[in-house]
Amino acid sequence: MIDRRKFIKSLSALGMSLPVLKSDLLAKPKKVAKGNPIILCSRGEKWGRKVLRPGWEVLRKRGSLLDAVEASANVTELDPEDTSVGYGGLPNMDGVVQLDASIMNGPDHNCGSVACIEGVKTPSSVARLVMERTDHIHLVGKGAQDFAIMHGFKIENLLTEKTRKIWVRWRENLSDKDDYFPPKSEKGSDKRTTGTINVLGVDSNGDVAGITTTSGLAWKIPGRVGDSPIIGAGLYLDNEVGAVGATGRGEEMIRSCGSFLGVELMRNGLSPQEACEEVCKRIIDINGGASKVDFNDKIVALGKNGDVGCASIREKKDDFPEIATWSKKGFKVTKGTYLIEQK
Ligand code: ASP
Repeated sequence: MIDRRKFIKSLSALGMSLPVLKSDLLAKPKKVAKGNPIILCSRGEKWGRKVLRPGWEVLRKRGSLLDAVEASANVTELDPEDTSVGYGGLPNMDGVVQLDASIMNGPDHNCGSVACIEGVKTPSSVARLVMERTDHIHLVGKGAQDFAIMHGFKIENLLTEKTRKIWVRWRENLSDKDDYFPPKSEKGSDKRTTGTINVLGVDSNGDVAGITTTSGLAWKIPGRVGDSPIIGAGLYLDNEVGAVGATGRGEEMIRSCGSFLGVELMRNGLSPQEACEEVCKRIIDINGGASKVDFNDKIVALGKNGDVGCASIREKKDDFPEIATWSKKGFKVTKGTYLIEQK
């Protein structure tokens, strides 16, 4: 790798110089009151406290920010009751659980991710090792699993009895033209559920880090990669600005570079809340307006100064957009906004 000093030297040997970048194109360090750590997750009361408690414990003791976000993400990954993340996540169309996760660290702007990884309960921890112990960013499928084995992760069956039964019900009700049929007493398939978790944090030094982890879209085509492991789509952050994460229809976050867009909007002066709403608006526009949008995405944001934001595209009666935070002020649930009302 060529360092900047050597690069400038070789340019001047060629009689060239670096173009002067206009400073307003670069991240402007914002004045931030240090000593106000905060950790955020994209869930409300039901999961928030449980998820954030171990992360906040690390932050409160001035431990490592990466340890904090990882500890919190691991809570949902290891909990079989959550059917959208890690162990006990809903499988792909073949009944195989394939997980996606990413991590990003503000101070060195480094990141790591795994996609379609099978058999490992905590993909965010593998993503962290990709970031810290390789010169790569994304590892997928068998390569990601082999890398996890190399680092001592156990390969386990991630399908629980609960998710196996949900999958079988879906598979048997999928078509009346195939040879599967459900028990007579059990007609009707479950709704295709989605879910993911974002954990974002700022430590006492004002540094920023984040994780997004998921089992992705239930019944996906094997090999499908969602937004969660794609840097700039399901997660992005900048140590001078803050962090953004997303849940919901990953394809839309990928084609809008939604998390990157949210961070850049914050860099340009929008509050985290305004940035989340603006990303939702952009996705609606890309799709040709509200009447064309039949999916949902939820964007969450944490500014370097501890301000938060949360917005979703659609109103969901049973799932209001909200986030939970833990800071010196304690645990708090904050309601977000939505752009399209449910009819
Ligand atoms: N964003 C995830 C994906 O598309 C799923 C979700 O959050 O519901 O894989």
